[in-house]
Amino acid sequence: MKALRTPADLRQALESLGRGPIIGFVPTMGAFHDGHVALFRAARQECDVVVASVFVNPSQFSDPADFAAYPRDRSRDEGVAAASGIDLLFVPSVDDMYPPGHATWVDVQGPARGLESDFRPGHFRGVATICAKLFDIVRPDVVFLGQKDAQQVAVIKQLVRDLNLDLAIRVIPTVRAADGLALSSRNVGLSADDRTRALALPRALAAGQAAYLEGRDVVAAARAELAGLEIDYVAVADFEGQPTLAIAARVGATRLIDNVPLEASREPHETPAGDRVVSSKESGHDQQAAFRRT
Ligand code: AMP
Repeated sequence: MKALRTPADLRQALESLGRGPIIGFVPTMGAFHDGHVALFRAARQECDVVVASVFVNPSQFSDPADFAAYPRDRSRDEGVAAASGIDLLFVPSVDDMYPPGHATWVDVQGPARGLESDFRPGHFRGVATICAKLFDIVRPDVVFLGQKDAQQVAVIKQLVRDLNLDLAIRVIPTVRAADGLALSSRNVGLSADDRTRALALPRALAAGQAAYLEGRDVVAAARAELAGLEIDYVAVADFEGQPTLAIAARVGATRLIDNVPLEASREPHETPAGDRVVSSKESGHDQQAAFRRT
């Protein structure tokens, strides 16, 4: 594996491979865990050349203190990337990505509205801008993203469609600890007590899923499990027709997000052989409303 810092160095390494290989790309902010590794593995399986980037993108943080405190572990990341079959690790500096005079921003509307944007103003402008720049530098055939950040997936898919980018997106299911907590680089900020309290999130998603299957109020069922946490939102969002229960909550000083696609929870026990799948419209849930929040 080669680690490269500047866009020019990465381009040179990619151009030396010629035009043939299928290029897979995994954009990240580093501090790798098994969620990142699942994306690396999927890319390794599908693509000839796998590029990953590690860049803690300042423009997607509304709070400079949050940016400064974001976990960084470059040497460990290099080891994990090499062991996961990454060919090229792109590790640019802030100045490489935003040289003095940088003045262009990519502002996605539609799925970027609501949820995270209500609590992190400018977040998706930063995400869309850095993704557009990284996609232009790497020129991947396939990009691998995590379901863990479901709204981010919707925003990046919108960006790819609207800018006519010639690449495919693969979405990899959320990797969880044995007790259900979604893996996240931010979990290192949880004390032992916070870590226990954070289990309310997967419990809330499970309660919401059960309520959905039984035709009860999904948001109310999820909220009931989150007592004592500082909730930013609990909402059923429609991501490309897929109703998704999304939660953001603060546990101590750490802000966690998690989600579950609700229709996926119908199978297999809800649709025994021969039964038709009940669509979200027929099920009586008003899933077409973009976001429902309480
Ligand atoms: P990050 O480094 O947190 O920006 O994440 C980089 C990529 O890894 C994004 O596409 C995330 O959605 C994905 N990711 C983060 N955590 C997980 C997880 N627990 N399971 C699957 N994918 C994840």
